[in-house]
Parts: sequence; structure tokens; C-alpha cells
Amino acid sequence: MKINILTLFPEMFEPLKQSLLGKAAEKGILEFNIINIRDFSQDKHNKADDYPFGGGVGMVMFCDPIFRAMEGLKGKNLYMSPRGKVMDEDKILSLSQEEEITILCGHYEGVDQRALDHFEMEEVSIGDYVLTGGELPAMVLIDAVARFIPGVLGDSECASDDSIYTGLLEHDQYTKPREYEGMQVPEVLFNGNHKLIHLWQYENSLVNTKRNRPDLFWAYVDKEKDLTKEEKKILDLVIKMEL
Ligand code: SAM
Repeated sequence: MKINILTLFPEMFEPLKQSLLGKAAEKGILEFNIINIRDFSQDKHNKADDYPFGGGVGMVMFCDPIFRAMEGLKGKNLYMSPRGKVMDEDKILSLSQEEEITILCGHYEGVDQRALDHFEMEEVSIGDYVLTGGELPAMVLIDAVARFIPGVLGDSECASDDSIYTGLLEHDQYTKPREYEGMQVPEVLFNGNHKLIHLWQYENSLVNTKRNRPDLFWAYVDKEKDLTKEEKKILDLVIKMEL
């Protein structure tokens, strides 16, 4: 997948060279094309913004350098913006099917509307709060989308097994040592009985979900599911638990 990123702060995308995304880029699974909007400014000082017409605080990014920077880019155009629909599982999955996407990062008060209209930019928000720029939101989107592109995660990892995507939050995880400062790992995880381990993880996952995301928990309860007798018993128990 080719990801074009239009930004005034290209250095902010250094983290894309790290970890799993960096490895995916080295393997050619992901291609990051980071474009400095300022390079397309016709102003002798590379100015990229000015005061808003109609008054008001802050600066608005010019449309001309964005029009020039967008030349030749293909695929879906996204503008990171708190005015957009908050992205969710469906949005991430549908974006992961694209071959090329372009992400425009705003700064200051935002971007001249004509650039957004002309390139039919879909406004995408990462949550109901406002950040200083679109760079961190763009990285959040890229990371979430990349996890669904084959080859980005290791063979043993699967994005759809994680919290949210299964409809529940994940169960607690433990690793070595078995005892740390007097704190023990739950005994059931060592007994080698995969059925019992699964049932413990299922209950723990239900409890975590009911406690932290009751909205997800009750949606899960209402959903049609194929549960074993034991799983059904555990679900009924957690439904009655006061958390
Ligand atoms: N004046 C704008 C408004 O009220 O909608 C907010 C501008 S914000 C200070 C600067 C830039 O940060 C935005 O243009 C956008 O690219 C990015 N941004 C801020 N919050 C965001 C969010 N929740 N989701 C996605 N992008 C965001």
C-alpha cells in the first residue's frame, strides 16, 4: 500500500521508520511518501499560511501549495480533522483494502476549504478532542490500517484477535517470571488444560469489557453467538456480576 502524507512537519514522521511499520516499509509492503507542503509554496519565504478571511484567531493553510503537492497522487484523499467522523473498526478495515491513500495533515486553524472540496477530501477524526496538528492523528490512522495489511504483523499475530475487533476487550496477559515481588500469575495458565485456559480467558475478557466498556459488553450480549454450554454459563455469571 502506498501512503502519501502531506505535512508542514515531515520530521514528525520519523517514528514510521521504527518497529513493525519500519520493517514493512523495508520489505516493500508499505511505501511512505512524505511530502513537505512548504516545498510547493511559491512564496519566497516558503510561507504556507495566512490569517483567515472574515477575522478570527490563528492561521489557515494556503490551498495553492496543497494543489501543487497533490498533483499526480492517486487513490482516496483523507484530511485528518476533528470535524470528521470518528474512525472505527469499519473505517480502518475499508482503508486497509486501498492500494494508495493520501493523508493531508492540517495545522494551526486548519486548511483553506477549497483544497478540501476540490480533492474531495474525506475528513477523518481520531476522537472528540483537538490536537495541534494532523501529524499524530495521521500516524494513528496509518498504524491502525497497517495492522490489517498482510505481512505487516508477524505470523503469530492477528489483528482481528485483538480487543475491540473480537467484540470484547482482551483478557489479561502474563509472561515470565511466574512470581514477581510476591505477585503470582493465575495458576490456571500453567495446568496445560487448553479448555480451562480458554474458559478463564473468556471470563476475564468478559469482566474487563463489562467493567471498562459496558457499551461493548451489552452489544456483545445482544449479538447472536455460537457458545458452548460452559461459555454460556460464564456469560450468565458475568451478566449478574456487579462490577
Ligand atoms: N480549527 C479547527 C477546528 O476547530 O476544527 C481545529 C484545528 S487543529 C488545532 C489543527 C489540525 O490538527 C487540524 O487541521 C487537523 O488536521 C488536526 N487535528 C486536531 N484534532 C484532530 C482530531 N481529533 N482528529 C484528527 N485530526 C485532528
